[in-house]
Amino acid sequence: MVPARRKSKATTRSRRNSHTALKPMNLVACPRCNAAKLPHRACANCGYVNSKVSLKIKGEEA
Ligand SMILES: [Zn+2]
Repeated sequence: MVPARRKSKATTRSRRNSHTALKPMNLVACPRCNAAKLPHRACANCGYVNSKVSLKIKGEEA
């Protein structure tokens, strides 16, 4: 341990900033249309949620 006043602002900020990087998005393939989608989210392309639930896409009937 080093006394707080001995550590430069840059060192302190650098340590805190080390956690701010963005992580790559985790995409999975939709089982119905094979488009990339976020896991546990409805598919934006076909509206598929799971085998029982499917959302209607705007501008697309049936
Ligand atoms: Zn889909």
